[in-house]
Amino acid sequence: MPTFPTLKLGSHSPYVKKLKMDLNGLSKNYNNFTINNIYDLKTKDVVGNFQDAVRIPRDGIVGLRTWKTLIDKVKIIQVKLNSRGYHSGNPDGWFGETTINAVKRFQRDNGLYEEGVINPRTRVKLFDPHHKDNFENRPSSNDIRSLDPYVSFLASEFLRLTRANNLDVRIIAAFRSWDEEDGLFASGRTKPGPIVTNARGGDSYHNWGLAFDASPIENGKLSNDIIKIKKMGKLGEQVGLEWGGSFKSIVDYPHYQYTFGLSTEELLNGKRPTK
Ligand SMILES: [Zn+2]
Repeated sequence: MPTFPTLKLGSHSPYVKKLKMDLNGLSKNYNNFTINNIYDLKTKDVVGNFQDAVRIPRDGIVGLRTWKTLIDKVKIIQVKLNSRGYHSGNPDGWFGETTINAVKRFQRDNGLYEEGVINPRTRVKLFDPHHKDNFENRPSSNDIRSLDPYVSFLASEFLRLTRANNLDVRIIAAFRSWDEEDGLFASGRTKPGPIVTNARGGDSYHNWGLAFDASPIENGKLSNDIIKIKKMGKLGEQVGLEWGGSFKSIVDYPHYQYTFGLSTEELLNGKRPTK
């Protein structure tokens, strides 16, 4: 690997453009940064979230380790496109014109919107074209039986424990359809409203039956009582769930998940929990 300069907020270099093209190609540009030579706050934010996702300490600085991880991820895409007959050039980790055009041809042939980036639906078709579990087309549900069987078991244990602690708790979301997730992603971007998520359909653990949201109930209504919410969170962690209230980057109080150590990218690439 040639030497790449360390990039950070304020950097101005053709390598910043290279960095942005790679992040954009990997569908990380959810905050709509401009692809140019300037490392601005939006770029730093995307780099930080990328580092979180690949378990590199989040500092928003692109050093050797972040460069290498990013370039390897692009290379894997290029190798896969080439093997599927979509010429994306020599796999060099550079998401340039040849790769973008290969992605667009792949998307056209697979009935996908020709975005030229590896969004989740493109990734799943590219890496796992014959998957049988059909997560993409399942409907949304508030029933914990829509979850992975083990996660469903943890959810019922969690509910049992909350009842034992005199908490009235309701599940407000379990499996979430990919279409619904895309709708949430559109809010604040292509639709009016606030930005509520950085996940598109396929990017959230809800889309794989590995997450649910729960809220305390008071007088038949959802409650924002933070004492109760935190008490619930501790009980969730006690049964082995990860609680969104303990997340470092984006705190998500109603959210509970069990990931089997898999990233959503690995799930899209065809990996599944082993029981
Ligand atoms: Zn959630």
